[in-house]
Amino acid sequence: MMRTRSGKLGELALIEQIRRTFSPPAAANRGSVALGIGDDCAILRPPRGSEILVTTDFSLENRHFRRDLHPAVSAGHRCLARGLSDLAAMGAKPMAAFLSLALPSELLKSAKGRRWTSEFFSGMDSLARQYDTPLAGGDTSESSGGLILADIILIGSAPIGRSLRRSGACPGNFLYVTGSLGGADAELKALLHSGRRSRAKASGDHPHFFPQPRLGVGSALLRRRLATAAIDLSDGLSTDLTHLCRASQVRAEIDAAVLPLHPLAAQLPPDEALHAALNGGEDYELLFSARPGTRVPASIAGVPITRIGTLHPQTGRRPLISLCDSDGKMTEVKPAGWEHFNS
Ligand code: ADP
Ligand code: MG
Repeated sequence: MMRTRSGKLGELALIEQIRRTFSPPAAANRGSVALGIGDDCAILRPPRGSEILVTTDFSLENRHFRRDLHPAVSAGHRCLARGLSDLAAMGAKPMAAFLSLALPSELLKSAKGRRWTSEFFSGMDSLARQYDTPLAGGDTSESSGGLILADIILIGSAPIGRSLRRSGACPGNFLYVTGSLGGADAELKALLHSGRRSRAKASGDHPHFFPQPRLGVGSALLRRRLATAAIDLSDGLSTDLTHLCRASQVRAEIDAAVLPLHPLAAQLPPDEALHAALNGGEDYELLFSARPGTRVPASIAGVPITRIGTLHPQTGRRPLISLCDSDGKMTEVKPAGWEHFNS
């Protein structure tokens, strides 16, 4: 589709707004971005002895967020958190983020629209500062169809050959999760039930609106050689543990009684709470495995760590994931992660 002249002006104004919002970051990353926003390419300088990790994640209006329900700051925070959580899962350190944005024309032109984008950028910028992640470039375009599309690209670095993968777990390893589970699902259900825009603020504990990517834990797991495998819980424990089991060719037994429930999930009836913990997505906690001889601390980088189960050799007959209840009864857990607003 042809770009109108006023559309192009809107894009240029937006890039200027982005450049002002994301002013150059604090000391730690100054070395990794040799050239940021403003030229045809950004130039990055990976630390000596490191390799580059890359991840991209879409945040699509009405699929990952809703303009009528989510504060724009939350949409911006969550967009970046998705990418940072992928870096955390592999123990990488963020080097730079890139943002490709397609916006409906009213967001580029009207005052109300510009307010949405400035709040979106401020939500993203606060999280970027917290984890010293400079926004080093992107692309901006008018979207067709009236919807917001944002694609975040995260570039990270890790010592060569040391990144945590899904495939490194062995039979006999113990399974751990960071933080608590089910909170994002419980908060999202409450939001959908209320049908009104939330006033959640980044300063509170809001696992759905403002998830905290576990970068400190991921890098400590790598640095201290604590984990054999790791994955972030973006789609829900049942689905993400299935990925880890498949990649590592193991099966898992998890203990229902010890699953750490977020307080918002713990308020639900017990079966709904368990469902939120197993299948509610977007908690952005880390799931990792460790050898039985490894002393895994009760908390890492200020985040509580809970041992939730054990890995075993795969056999044809046993399910990939079994849940052990308080009476010792085993039931199969099928991957049933949350499908955003698909339902
Ligand atoms: P080009 O046409 O050469 O691709 P653009 O006009 O698209 O350049 O972008 C100019 C500069 O602004 C580039 O450095 C680009 O990375 C940056 N930029 C454009 N859109 C965004 C965005 N949404 N977020 C961050 N940087 C952006
Ligand atoms: Mg461009």
